[in-house]
Amino acid sequence: MSTAINHSSSIGLDLQTIVVLTVEGLDEFVARLRALGYEVMGPTLRDGAIVPGPVNSSKDLPRGVHDLQSPGSYRVMREDDGEIFGWAVGPGSWKNEYFPPSQVMWRSEIVGDTLVFRQPDRSHALLAIVGARPCDVAALRILDHVLEEGVHRDSRYSERRDSNFIAVVECASPADTCFCASMKSGPGIDEDFDVALTELNDELGHRFIARIGSPRGADVLSSVSTRPANELDLEARALLLETASRAMSRSLPFDEVANLLARNVEHPRWLDVAERCLSCGNCTSVCPTCFCSDVHDTTDTSGAIERRRTWSSCFDLEHSYLHGGSVHESSSSRYRQWMTHKLSTWWDQFDSTGCVGCGRCIVWCPVGIDITEEVAAIAAHDQARVAVPSRPGAS
Ligand code: SF4
Ligand code: SF4
Repeated sequence: MSTAINHSSSIGLDLQTIVVLTVEGLDEFVARLRALGYEVMGPTLRDGAIVPGPVNSSKDLPRGVHDLQSPGSYRVMREDDGEIFGWAVGPGSWKNEYFPPSQVMWRSEIVGDTLVFRQPDRSHALLAIVGARPCDVAALRILDHVLEEGVHRDSRYSERRDSNFIAVVECASPADTCFCASMKSGPGIDEDFDVALTELNDELGHRFIARIGSPRGADVLSSVSTRPANELDLEARALLLETASRAMSRSLPFDEVANLLARNVEHPRWLDVAERCLSCGNCTSVCPTCFCSDVHDTTDTSGAIERRRTWSSCFDLEHSYLHGGSVHESSSSRYRQWMTHKLSTWWDQFDSTGCVGCGRCIVWCPVGIDITEEVAAIAAHDQARVAVPSRPGAS
């Protein structure tokens, strides 16, 4: 269980205030979160990729590191610009923090002549994320709906997610594979954060615009050195977001894709993609919204049992195993299941899209299968064989 953090009630900033921090101010911001008792995590450079990691100060953030992403390819490079958030997204999303790839549910052991069940220790410090991207915050909202707000509430997810602190950083450097603008999940953000930062690095200096999204965001920023934002700062932010949005060459037809896929379940493109797909499941591992899991029990001769929950993937044959065999035996049916769920049947199930346009599935697919290209190919030869009822989100 997590411990509540007592944020001051006498805050010096209100939700309408927009302020500007220097890089030193960002350090103060991290230090204040740590002083409040948060475990601070953010983007870090590890093994040649930008991945979530512990952050003790801005020195732990990937300063001067940029990324180059394309279908099936990812690399980072260094530049002298000192930018801290001059990259798009890395392979690891924040899903891993709340819904780990492998998690012990319970253990049992024989004590005397009694079988005793024990839950693992679930105490942990509250989490503050500094440097989540708008698309990743949108993905967490989608996961909240599935894992926290549904009929089957996942208490492990909720314990970690509740009362966490989110400092999102708007995206100025979308990768070639990003399409969040078309999915309405970036590159800017207006809700679901405690503090929203925008990094500016121009003739007026290296600085961060900070918008406040919650009373505790105001509380944390109140004890950090800031100055009020001026018109030039706000104009620079607007230009930066517009430029980032225009820089995205990929897109999905947000209002049309659900019905497009629903009426094309027999499209020949599913066979075409199966020729290339390895069924490796990389796309589901890196996706910030995929939430399927499986449970496995292990035993030993002492009578101890451990039940562990691990991520599973709709590309595994066992994933669709019902009595007598797997429903999705072919690669084409497994890819179709994955993509139609993300973009079409997610609306039926959860009243939202299941994709935020982060592009990770494109980058980390070893053969470079591109979800936007597959949708475009289906749209180019729309079979329109089945009339389907209109879905939420469809025009
Ligand atoms: S389907 Fe691909 S682009 Fe969409 S959220 Fe998942 S990884 Fe990102
Ligand atoms: S689409 Fe790519 S990443 Fe996904 S299972 Fe197929 S080969 Fe692997």
